[in-house]
Amino acid sequence: MAKTSENENNENRDHKKLGPKLDLFTFSDLVGPGLPLWTPKGTILRNLLDEFVWQLRKTRGYERVEIPHITKKELYEKSGHWEKFKDELFQIKTREGHIFAVKPMNCPHHTQIYARKPWSYRELPQRYANTTMCYRDEQSGELGGLSRVRAFTQDDAHAFCRMSQVKEEFLKIWDIIHEFYGAFGFDLQVRFSRHDPKQPEKYLGDKERWTTAENILGEIIKEKKVKAIDGIGEAAFYGPKLDFMAKDSLGREWQVATIQLDLNMPDRFDLTCVNENGEAERIAMIHAAIMGSIERFLSVLIEHTGGAFPLWLSPVQAAVLPLSEKYKTYAQKIFEELKEKNIRVQMTDADEPLGKRIRESEIQKIPYVIVVGEKEEKSENVSVRRRGSAFAKATADKQDGLPSEASAKEGEISMENLLEKIEREVNEKII
Ligand SMILES: [Zn+2]
Repeated sequence: MAKTSENENNENRDHKKLGPKLDLFTFSDLVGPGLPLWTPKGTILRNLLDEFVWQLRKTRGYERVEIPHITKKELYEKSGHWEKFKDELFQIKTREGHIFAVKPMNCPHHTQIYARKPWSYRELPQRYANTTMCYRDEQSGELGGLSRVRAFTQDDAHAFCRMSQVKEEFLKIWDIIHEFYGAFGFDLQVRFSRHDPKQPEKYLGDKERWTTAENILGEIIKEKKVKAIDGIGEAAFYGPKLDFMAKDSLGREWQVATIQLDLNMPDRFDLTCVNENGEAERIAMIHAAIMGSIERFLSVLIEHTGGAFPLWLSPVQAAVLPLSEKYKTYAQKIFEELKEKNIRVQMTDADEPLGKRIRESEIQKIPYVIVVGEKEEKSENVSVRRRGSAFAKATADKQDGLPSEASAKEGEISMENLLEKIEREVNEKII
């Protein structure tokens, strides 16, 4: 087979094709463009990724919160979003004639959770995590696959803290990002996204506040001893940020995680804590998304892995294939045993030739294909084929640009050994 060009490699990994082929998501003309619908397999992926982020956050003191998806427009007038983004908001007119908006971000809602009561400095930081959908009225021509959508899920979090705690909170989130992206073999680069002093009209707040915020971020970068890309004009309208760019297995860079320092929202919403002297002290707000949006992250991950997800993340982890109808009972026993151990397993009927069923499991990128016949039933073992490691094979020099679909035959092993192997691979999130 002739070596294909890099363009074709990229095309074979295109998440717009590969996602539906792996039955992860779909679009419907009736629902509308830019509104992905998640299948059971895709939903498993989303939930596992979110749970991973949540575990990393939980150990660092985050708590979960929940908010409605709409709000009175007054919330966004106060935050400044209405003025900046009113054309990108989905607006709703209620039957009583009030204007509501569907949320394009969560920060203003979260400020109102913090504002529910007075806080002592001893109770800070308050750290709120919330994985939730946001909606933006993107123009139809700009929509494509999962990269640009009208409904996306942010793995959002806001930390409300004193100025003296900002650095520590940033470093904690930096650790989470490092751990999360490390688990997928991404290389990360940091961009220091600052405001553009030549366009002050693009930003909230005065110059002094921006200088203070940018100095703190500069110190954090220095402390981490990394070389950050200078992103002048890339700041959010409320504050500077550290953006993380992930390099995928094809060498492409994607903006993924972000940590943002915001001294403007706390001012606009008058957020304070009571300090050691009994005075009201203005606090800082840190915005942080690890995946950014689950949709965009998945578009990157599908192309990075070519759909061969690590075992812990695979929607179907194992398939049991009886050699023929005769061995269905034994296959059923193996299937039940795996299911009992919470392994996501499927069983195929024996009405198709074995080779065809193995091939189908490989196309679906199922990590473990378990074949049972007479020999296995007698010895009470199983024969295992293991899909190639997602990342060892996920390189651009593969002829078709995809991780090898062919699995390697690992031979006969006992169920005990197989379960042990799977459990270790899942727990250690091996890639
Ligand atoms: Zn935010």
